[in-house]
Amino acid sequence: MTRSENGAFIRLGLIGYPLGHSVSPMLHEAALKSAGLSGEYRLYPIQPGPEDSQPLTSLIDDMRAGALAGLNVTIPHKRRILDFVDDLDMIARSVGAVNTLVMREGHLVGENTDVPGFLHDLKGLRWSPEGTAVLLGAGGSARAVAYALVSSGWDVVVAARRKEQADQLAEEIGSVCHAFMKIHGIEFTPQSLKEAAGKNALVVNATPSGMHPKVKECPWPENIPLPAGGAVYDLVYNPAETKLSRLARVSGVPVLTGAGMLVAQAALSFHAWTGYEPPFTIMQKAFRLP
Ligand code: NAP
Repeated sequence: MTRSENGAFIRLGLIGYPLGHSVSPMLHEAALKSAGLSGEYRLYPIQPGPEDSQPLTSLIDDMRAGALAGLNVTIPHKRRILDFVDDLDMIARSVGAVNTLVMREGHLVGENTDVPGFLHDLKGLRWSPEGTAVLLGAGGSARAVAYALVSSGWDVVVAARRKEQADQLAEEIGSVCHAFMKIHGIEFTPQSLKEAAGKNALVVNATPSGMHPKVKECPWPENIPLPAGGAVYDLVYNPAETKLSRLARVSGVPVLTGAGMLVAQAALSFHAWTGYEPPFTIMQKAFRLP
């Protein structure tokens, strides 16, 4: 039985910090409404640090007791929450990060819908991939993207300002995917990006460069053309058109920004909690930038 079938009020929410501009409540409340379910999606801002154990434990206890039906987890707790779960799904274990908490047969399971959410939205590029991706950034979201791409057969070059960060990500994802030859790190310099991208590459921005309020920043070097025949996926979703996505558009390079991934990971979390079909279209329509 899904939680939705017993007519109960469904309490969902998001753990993170800060959460001031989160669009998740509008997405999930639209999904609840369209499914004819009564419920709410609340924000639980929890500052990271020595004091965070008590509020995190309290929310986890509410999930175990059934008072909360599901939680999303975002920055900075996606790895921290690993300490609180009974089990991990295969993707969360591989990526080392959780964005969805769900009770399954009495066990609190940490899952990761960022990976399938990214892959789902990537299909919207309507571009024939050539198999090489240049991934800008080596932080939390880059791990999910690297895992998504390598486990789908792509070759991935990870570019980071601190090369050791790129190398470490490449080694870890190469190891969990049993594909050391499919991923490596480079330094984030114009020359090495130019060499790595070559022709036909997919450029994925997993840095906050270009994100509100730093909308004038572009993670791609100004003097280097985007790969001819390639494509761009910018994880940043605020603003709707980033400096990078504008550059791609005027260069005739297919491009998407991160709103679709945000919606897709949310729809997949909603499915995990309620058993309803992932409501991609309903959540897409509900999406509004703050
Ligand atoms: P993160 O863990 O802080 O990692 C950011 C990475 O970008 C780090 O490697 C950082 O390097 C690098 N970086 C930061 N500024 C840079 C710059 N100006 N030039 C080159 N590299 C730079 O952040 P995250 O959680 O991965 O998030 C990254 C972006 O993705 C954010 O804008 C976030 O909103 C977006 N995101 C979108 C979705 C979605 O659903 N669409 C999901 C997750 C994240 P240093 O360590 O050297 O600073």
